Amino acid sequence: MKDQLMNIETEALIRIENAKNSKDLEEIRIQIFGKKGELTLLLRNMGNVSQEDRPLIGKIANEVREKIQDSLEAKKEIIHREQLEQSLKNESIDVTIPGQFIELGHRHPLMQVKEELENLFLSMGYDVVEGPEIDTVENNFDALNAPEDHPSRDMSDTFYISENILLRTQTSPVQIRIMKSQKPPIRIVSAGRTFRFDDVDDTHSPMFHQMECLVVDKGVTLANLKDSIDKFVKTLFGEDMKTRFRPHNFPFTEPSAEVDVSCLKCMGKGCSACSYTGWSMELLGCGMVHPNVLRNCGIDPEIYSGYAFGMGVDRVTMVKYGISDIRLLFDNDVRFLKQF
Ligand SMILES: [Zn+2]
Repeated sequence: MKDQLMNIETEALIRIENAKNSKDLEEIRIQIFGKKGELTLLLRNMGNVSQEDRPLIGKIANEVREKIQDSLEAKKEIIHREQLEQSLKNESIDVTIPGQFIELGHRHPLMQVKEELENLFLSMGYDVVEGPEIDTVENNFDALNAPEDHPSRDMSDTFYISENILLRTQTSPVQIRIMKSQKPPIRIVSAGRTFRFDDVDDTHSPMFHQMECLVVDKGVTLANLKDSIDKFVKTLFGEDMKTRFRPHNFPFTEPSAEVDVSCLKCMGKGCSACSYTGWSMELLGCGMVHPNVLRNCGIDPEIYSGYAFGMGVDRVTMVKYGISDIRLLFDNDVRFLKQF
């Protein structure tokens, strides 16, 4: 029995030594210690061992079991470490290889300024609304009190789709749509593309962007309009900015004015950019909503009054960034657009 035990031990240790992986080790363990394992079966025959030999055989059997178990554990540890090293070698990352650079773009400067303006008006309590770029002659001219013979109605100034449908020449038809569908108080701002039959030059493009504000409520006065524009200009360009109102004529407002702001380059001192006037010309158009416009939209001008002002988003963008040619905004030259 002693020899058998020693044989099991010797063979087991050799097999463990030659094991390649943890699966081999598990097989060896079952072969020796399993229910039908070599050692298990052998020890079942302890009953055949004589009474006097039994303690010695028992002691040897325990030693053999411990030796085999220790050897299994040790080999397991070695295999585990080898596997780890192997996988580290296979999966190693070369941190010196240059990374793949993904170039992220950004919003077009026009859209940046449009969003900045919208957020500014949102913070001043206005709702941002949108309207279609194709609209009716009624919404674009008639309801806005444009006289039948107003030059802007001419085919040479406006893109007509049919007799009654056109590409909007201003964002004002959105105001008409809102006033026709909502009851005052109304406090909205609307921005988007507008279209006019203009030849392309430094400052003109047949497609450009406008933003307009409209407030209709009881007791709205010219003082409210001046205050709103002043606050808006100072928030957008800085506290030092001054505004100047020059009387003007728009069909949809009465009285109407054009608004100049201090020249951003010289802040009003006078420089070549502002022809030494100190003013950046015609940033905004504004006025009190004409009673006819309110009436056209079913709002009683005896009860309600309102003001409106609008600006070219392209123009604000050009003033803000010192861009001298509007065409640069639409050329989509990445070298130019990257700068903003
Ligand atoms: Zn200037």
